[in-house]
Amino acid sequence: MKKIKLKELERKVKNCKRCPLFKERIKNKYFVVFGEGNIDAKIMFVGEAPGLKEAKTGKPFCGPAGKILDELFKFVRIKRENVYITSLLKCRPPKNRDPKKEEIEACKIFLEKQIEIIKPKIICPLGRHSMKFLMEKFNLKEKIDSISKIHGKVFVAENLFQKTIIIPFYHPAVALYNPNIKKVLLRDFEILKNAKKLFTSS
Ligand code: URA
Repeated sequence: MKKIKLKELERKVKNCKRCPLFKERIKNKYFVVFGEGNIDAKIMFVGEAPGLKEAKTGKPFCGPAGKILDELFKFVRIKRENVYITSLLKCRPPKNRDPKKEEIEACKIFLEKQIEIIKPKIICPLGRHSMKFLMEKFNLKEKIDSISKIHGKVFVAENLFQKTIIIPFYHPAVALYNPNIKKVLLRDFEILKNAKKLFTSS
């Protein structure tokens, strides 16, 4: 059922014209980058938007930032195929610029639906835009601060029916030009070694 729902959603994303980024996609023969991984994943990683390599292949985090992400996974013994990876925007913004407010507004329904279908226990925003969006969505607005202050912190969003853990991280691309951030990312990712404990404790 989940598989069918996600396929149907992916079809909608592929035909999406909700913001002007679709024109860039068609002009450059880029793919949408819907997301991939285990549809029963307990952990979902949410980047900002596809880069060039991602747009050329349709696969999330397969370019230089993806190499860093793979290193982080290896460090904490997480297998890529056991988690789900997607981004806030599904189309590449020109020259890898930051997502615009109206693009996030147009695209958010797809990420919201992915979360609703997959129901991850832990959501890890990668970068400040996805951090802001997800913390707002999970009623953690008053806890929002700059990513330099709240990276690696564990936030618990609870409602009547479920508990979702949000752990924001720096975007792995930052580590490409800042080795200090890579050290911080490695340290922050350690928290995921105990991920099972995080979502079984009350
Ligand atoms: N950065 C992202 O946020 N997502 C990708 O898929 C690649 C780079």
